[in-house]
Amino acid sequence: MTSEEEFNRARENESYRQPFLDSINLESEARFVHKVIYNSNQKYSSFMDENVPTIMRCKLRPLEIFGRVWLPSFRRADIYVFPIAFTEAIPNINSFLNNLIDHEGFHAKQLFFNPWLALGDGAMLELDAYWNQMISSEKRGLDDNWRQIIAGKCSRVIDPFAI
Ligand SMILES: [Zn+2]
Repeated sequence: MTSEEEFNRARENESYRQPFLDSINLESEARFVHKVIYNSNQKYSSFMDENVPTIMRCKLRPLEIFGRVWLPSFRRADIYVFPIAFTEAIPNINSFLNNLIDHEGFHAKQLFFNPWLALGDGAMLELDAYWNQMISSEKRGLDDNWRQIIAGKCSRVIDPFAI
């Protein structure tokens, strides 16, 4: 089990972030994930909103055959973790794991079985992942304040369809 202490060490020391990510047990989603990669170059594009810093992102690895890139590919995805994941945006190790495993790991599973969904607008993938993150938050001991944050992110996906 990854400890709060190790999470804090990764927060304070950027060079420990990749070893920290490598040490995390991805539980039931481990078989859908190729690697969790720390990316020190903060990205700002997020679903429906270009000004929100990206915390983590799940990406299928392109499948190359004879030097050409092919999609879809039934492969394990990579999860990228950006610097903001080590700020107060993620208050503790349980919320970190809730994002990493229950949301991004869930995306890896979605894309493993249905890689062509990566070609769509992603709204359905997001709603499913937020729902999984929400119901998994309780077993990780997270409170309603955290669920409120997830609900806020989820509503950014739903809002474009509101009447
Ligand atoms: Zn997502």
